[in-house]
Amino acid sequence: MSTAVQGLAGLDAETLGMILDSIREFAEQHLPQQRLLDLDRSHDFPEDTVRAMCADLGVQLLFIPEAYGGMGGGAFDVYRVCELMAGIDLAIATAVLATFLGSDPILFGGSEEQKADWLGRIAEEGLLMAYGATEPEAGSDLGALRTTATPVVEDDVVTGYRLNGAKMWISNGGYADLYSVLALAPGGPTWFVMEKGAEGFTHGIPEDKHGIRASNTAALSFEDVLVPASAVVGGVEGQGLVQAQLVFGYTRLMVAAFGLGAGWAGLDRAIRYSTTRIQGGGPLSQKQGYTHKLIVPHACRLEAGRAYIEETATRIDAGEGTLNTEGAIAKYLSTEAGNGAADAAIQAHGGYGYVREYMVEKIRRDVRITTIYEGTSEIMEMTIARDRWQAHLKTRGRHYHDEAAGLDALHATSPRVGADTVAKATRALAELLERARQQRLTRHQHVLFRLGELIAWVEGAAALARRAAAAAAGTLAEKSDRRMKPEALAAVSRVFAREAAAKLASEGMRWAVGADGVPSADRPAYEAALGLAALHEAQTGLIEDMDRVADALYANLES
Ligand SMILES: Cc1cc2nc3c(=O)[nH]c(=O)nc-3n(C[C@H](O)[C@H](O)[C@H](O)COP(=O)(O)OP(=O)(O)OC[C@H]3O[C@@H](n4cnc5c(N)ncnc54)[C@H](O)[C@@H]3O)c2cc1C
Repeated sequence: MSTAVQGLAGLDAETLGMILDSIREFAEQHLPQQRLLDLDRSHDFPEDTVRAMCADLGVQLLFIPEAYGGMGGGAFDVYRVCELMAGIDLAIATAVLATFLGSDPILFGGSEEQKADWLGRIAEEGLLMAYGATEPEAGSDLGALRTTATPVVEDDVVTGYRLNGAKMWISNGGYADLYSVLALAPGGPTWFVMEKGAEGFTHGIPEDKHGIRASNTAALSFEDVLVPASAVVGGVEGQGLVQAQLVFGYTRLMVAAFGLGAGWAGLDRAIRYSTTRIQGGGPLSQKQGYTHKLIVPHACRLEAGRAYIEETATRIDAGEGTLNTEGAIAKYLSTEAGNGAADAAIQAHGGYGYVREYMVEKIRRDVRITTIYEGTSEIMEMTIARDRWQAHLKTRGRHYHDEAAGLDALHATSPRVGADTVAKATRALAELLERARQQRLTRHQHVLFRLGELIAWVEGAAALARRAAAAAAGTLAEKSDRRMKPEALAAVSRVFAREAAAKLASEGMRWAVGADGVPSADRPAYEAALGLAALHEAQTGLIEDMDRVADALYANLES
C-alpha cells in the first residue's frame, strides 16, 4: 500500500501558510484580472505561467512525498491550495490539477522504482502531466473503455505494448510532458505512463469550451504506439480500475475544493458589490429580500461543503482509507453549492453581472465544470446512495439512528450549533430509508439518486455542526480555514441544519409517496415516523439566524 493510502501527516501550518502566501503573490504578479479575462476570451493556454507555477513556485511538490523530492503535503494541504487556486482562476487550477491527477495512479499504484523515477522527475523538472481516462464512448462508465494495449512478446517475454484507440476531454492533453493512459490489456484495464512525442501518439485541437477556457482540453489518439513493459503502473496488468478507485476519495476532494473556491470567489464579489450599489434608497446589502436569497443560503451551503471537505481530508491524512463515498459527498455538496453561489452572484450584480467586466459571469461559466469532471453529480448521487444503502441494510436500519444519537450527544455539550435539528433530519432519513426498503422503492433509479442527495445534505449538516462546535470550543485544526468566527459559524450551522430538515420534510414525503410507497391509510403513521411536525418546528428562529449570518458576512468585510 502506498504512503498516501496509509495516511499523510502533511505540512505544518506555518509551511502551508507560506505556500498559500506565495501563490497569492504569484497571482498578484502574473494573473491580474484583465489578463484572466483576456485569456478567457482568446482561449489561449498560458503555458509559461502554468510551467512557472511548477518550476518557480513548485506547486506540484505539494503532493509528491518527501522521499521522491516533494514536500509531502496531505489531503488537507491539497484542499487549501486547490480552494485558493480556484478562487484565483479555475482554468489555471485545472491545469495544475491535471498534473496532480496524472501522477495519482503512480503515487497510489506505482512500484518504488517507478515512483522514484516519474515522481522524482515531476518534482525536479516541474513536468506537466495529463490524466487520460475518458473516451468518446466511456465517460461515467470507464469500464466501457475501448483503447487497447496489445502485448509485444519476444522470446516468451512481454517487452512492451502497442496502444490503439482514443481519449476524449483530456486536460493538458496538448501540452503535457507525461501522460497516464488507461487502456485495456489482456489482463484488464491497466494504467500506462508515456512520454509526449511517441510515434503514433497525437492530440487534437483545443476544445472550444463554455468555461475554464484558458485550460487546454484535447482528444488523444493512439495508433500502434509502442510503450515499454516498464510503462505499466505497478508492473501488473488489470489493476487500472482498482488504482483509479484508490484515488477517488482524494481527487474528488480536490474538485470539491474547486467548487468551494470558485463559489466563494463569486459570492465575495457579490457581497462587496452590494455594499456600494444603492437601490430603493439604500445599499443592497441592507435589503433582506436580497441578502437572504442571494447571499446567506449560498454562504451556508458552501460552508457545509467545507466542513465535509475538512473532515474527510483529516480522515484521509489520518490513514482511514480511501474514503470514496466521503469524497463523493464532499464533491457533490461543494460543487453544487459553488454552482449555486456563482449563479446567485450574477443575479446579485443585476445587469452588471451579465457582462464580462465584473468577473462573476466568467466564474459562473468556469465553475460549471466542477459538477461534471471527476464524476458527475448524478454519479456522485448514485455512489453515495449505494454505499449508505448498504450501511442501512447491514445495520438493520440502525445506521442513521446511531448517527442521530451522536448528534443529540453533541447538542448536549454544544447547544448552539443546531445539532438537535440535524439529529431530527438524520432520524427522518433513517425512516425514509426504511420505508424505501419495505416498499422496494430503490427499484426506481430516480428515488435512489434522490436518496443520495438527501444523505449528502444530512451528512453535510452533521459535519458543519461538528465543525461549528469545534470552532466554539477553540479546537479547530490549526490548518483549518477561519473565514467565519465561531458565533457566526454556529448561526451558519443552524441555518443549514434547518434547510436539511426542511428538505427531509418535503422530499421525504414527496418521493416515498410519489413512488407509491405510502398508501393513504398509512400516511399519518409515516408522517409521524418521519417526525414531520418536529422538522417544521425546527424552523423557528430561522429568519433571525439568517440576519445574524448576513451581519457576520458584512462585518467580515469591514474587519
Ligand atoms: C473540460 C473538461 C476537462 C476534462 N478533463 C479530463 C481529464 O483530464 N481526464 C479525463 O480522463 N477526463 C476528463 N474529462 C472527462 C470527464 O471526466 C467526463 O466528461 C465525465 O466523467 C462525464 O463523462 P461523459 O462526458 O462521457 O458523460 P456521460 O457519462 O455520457 O454522462 C452524460 C450524462 O448522463 C448522466 N449519467 C451517466 N451515467 C448515468 C447512469 N448510469 N445513470 C444515470 N445518469 C447517468 C451523467 O450524470 C450526465 O449527466 C474532462 C471533461 C471536460 C468537459
